[in-house]
Amino acid sequence: MEKENQKIVAVIGRPNVGKSTLFNRLCGKRVAIEAPIPGTTRDRLYGEVNWQGEEFTLIDVAGIESGTKKEIDLSIQDGVDTAIESADLILFIVDWNEPDNQKDKEVARRLKKSGKKVLLVVNKVDNVSRLESIDLFKRLGFQNPIPVSAISGKSSGDLLDVIAKELKDDETVPAKVHTNYDISLAIIGRPNVGKSTLLNTIIGEKRAVVSAEAGTTRDSVNVSFFHKGKNIQISDTAGIRRPGKVGHDTIESFSVIRAERALKNCDVAILVIDASEGLVALDANILGNAKEWGKGIILAVNKIDLIPGDQQEYMAKTIWILQRKLNFAPWLPIVFISAQDEVNINSLLTQVVAVAENRNTIVPQELLDEIIELSKQSNPQLQDIQKLNQKRSTPPQFEIVVSAKKVPHYTQVRYLENRIRDVVPMNGVPIYIDTHLLGRVRSKKR
Ligand code: GDP
Ligand code: GDP
Repeated sequence: MEKENQKIVAVIGRPNVGKSTLFNRLCGKRVAIEAPIPGTTRDRLYGEVNWQGEEFTLIDVAGIESGTKKEIDLSIQDGVDTAIESADLILFIVDWNEPDNQKDKEVARRLKKSGKKVLLVVNKVDNVSRLESIDLFKRLGFQNPIPVSAISGKSSGDLLDVIAKELKDDETVPAKVHTNYDISLAIIGRPNVGKSTLLNTIIGEKRAVVSAEAGTTRDSVNVSFFHKGKNIQISDTAGIRRPGKVGHDTIESFSVIRAERALKNCDVAILVIDASEGLVALDANILGNAKEWGKGIILAVNKIDLIPGDQQEYMAKTIWILQRKLNFAPWLPIVFISAQDEVNINSLLTQVVAVAENRNTIVPQELLDEIIELSKQSNPQLQDIQKLNQKRSTPPQFEIVVSAKKVPHYTQVRYLENRIRDVVPMNGVPIYIDTHLLGRVRSKKR
């Protein structure tokens, strides 16, 4: 079962109002760095919160650097913009001690314009006598300011109640219009690798239908088009920014959450990397998740137009490096593209269709029997295996029935996976092999 879309709640406000203190309070652990000097909370952080069954991701929109006035303004702008784009609900934090702060008014204006749901949270209400002046904050243009004291934890449960209620109310509106499509595709990757350029190239080349995603205020569209007779839909495009914006720490953290969300909801994902940068930790992480969640995945190495000299040599070398780095995924299709110059876009989409079909693979039982027979002949360690079955498809899941008391070593399971893939490659698709052992089932994810 796929998890529902995780809701995103962003904590926004100018420096020193207590965002990271509140963030820690709501997440129930100390993860952000609290600091008395304005602007020293650099780490953009996110945490998972579960409040009475309502789960959401809380993001501390920090990353506001100390520096010249201009730099500070710019950072606030960046952080707020990104949070607005991505969040389902915004906690606008202000400081009780400063009801007339000019920066608060600027932030308030931006939030108003976005049309997003905003909860105005007045922090540092450490004692009840302060409550009297709370209505002063209505001047920022938001009703029902919520008093909290992040430092003491006072009223933080009440705040969580309100957040949970707002998120629940949101669910009465369908998050997505389900149209008839064959393949749900996600385009994911770090900022600036060329995701939005790729999206635009696809829209242009495939004459895609672009429609607003109903039932949500999120700045997201559905893109659907036909390729090889299949109707492919790219939804959750909110994570793909408009081209030209410079990468930023805050943006990076949103992109992680976005990537996870898009990945959870798709059949096939294109992980885009930049040819000049190669694979980084985040990419490996995404690949790990794709495997875990049984998603089809294709690696698109973008910007090959920037590679000087012999491109064939570059590609061969890159495939070699990537396959060494990704020792778990020799089955991962790698496509070299230039989103900008529209190179190989059709091959990429053909791979998408192929991978989606591979994900539905059903291997005939006779073939599986033959695989086990041959494997046992060439690998004595597999003698205890009685049978190999396919339990289900999409994604394909297999089961080995073992007569011994011991679970087979993972190298043996991997050996079998490789033998299955020798016959039916299932490129781009992770497969699972469970072990059925004397009445018990031990799961091994491959
Ligand atoms: P941020 O820059 O918005 O993330 O703010 P911080 O969380 O770093 O907090 C800034 C300062 O305000 C720190 O000195 C905190 O200890 C203090 N602070 C945070 N919450 C409260 C509160 O509820 N009451 C009081 N009195 N101080 C607080
Ligand atoms: P995103 O953040 O992943 O959506 O990346 P963008 O699509 O905004 O692209 C980031 C930058 O890379 C922009 O300046 C693009 O023009 C550039 N870019 C994207 N694709 C290509 C490509 O194939 N070749 C070259 N040379 N530049 C590209």
